[in-house]
Amino acid sequence: MEKVKVKCKFCGLLKEGFRIKHYNLKICFDCFPDFFKNRIQHTIEKFKMFEKDSSLLVAISGGKDSMSMAKALKELGYNLRAIHLNVNLGDISDKSQKIVEKFCQNENIPLLIIDLNLELNVSLKDLSRISRRPICAVCGMLRRYFINREAKDEVIVTGHTLNDEVSFIFKNMLFWNDDLLSRISPLLYEKEGLHRKVKPLCFITEEETLQFCNVMKIEHIEDACPYKSEVYDVFKDTVNHFNQKFPGSILGFYKGFLKRVENFYSVSSNSTYLQACQSCGYPTNMSLCSICRLKEKLLQYKNHG
Ligand SMILES: [Zn+2]
Ligand SMILES: [Zn+2]
Repeated sequence: MEKVKVKCKFCGLLKEGFRIKHYNLKICFDCFPDFFKNRIQHTIEKFKMFEKDSSLLVAISGGKDSMSMAKALKELGYNLRAIHLNVNLGDISDKSQKIVEKFCQNENIPLLIIDLNLELNVSLKDLSRISRRPICAVCGMLRRYFINREAKDEVIVTGHTLNDEVSFIFKNMLFWNDDLLSRISPLLYEKEGLHRKVKPLCFITEEETLQFCNVMKIEHIEDACPYKSEVYDVFKDTVNHFNQKFPGSILGFYKGFLKRVENFYSVSSNSTYLQACQSCGYPTNMSLCSICRLKEKLLQYKNHG
């Protein structure tokens, strides 16, 4: 987004701002923060994600998306607590934690840090090796598990953007992962053992979260995680490419998908039976959940080398 003088659609003045191609809209930097926050508020209400007095547990990584979301929710007057998972991947993890700590202190947001090394006494790289799964997949699994475990009477809020959601749909359509596709929604209701999870940025692009961070001077981690999978990149790039070539197309696609998903998938495909993990209580379709199975593998590995 280039910095130019624009005639702002909201205040009507000729001021420094930018054009959001995605909406074919010119907006000045002074009006942008409210525009951004209002769209988040609108999404929260549209899907009845939570109420004004709900308690929120916001997952913050230190990246532009979750940081801009936390700032916006705070300014919208919500009651939030932050959770950050340090997965000990060296510099990038240390830097992320510092940024998150500073932000939460300045914004007066209570922060819980989960340290993977303290929790499992093993590095993410070793976990990935032992479980023979990509770092990115193990990392995601751990995040979901610990955030759910730590949530009290709270709604879990994550910073997934429109780009993330559409990438996820593209990927799972390419490989026809029906089970995953059938469950895509910006609001996942609480059920036995799982807290409610919501994605208030689901209609917001990453260009906008970056712009919000820039305008509001929110420090965030800029380097992409060096361990993110190549597959992830391919779909992210594809989505960005589509949105460049056909501005607004991914928003239309996502809205269209949400409208059709229930018709595509009958209720029965959505009814995988889950039980409580015998060890920790986390919902699973086996007797032990994926994390407890991972812990067992780890133990065997430590005992037998
Ligand atoms: Zn304006
Ligand atoms: Zn378990």
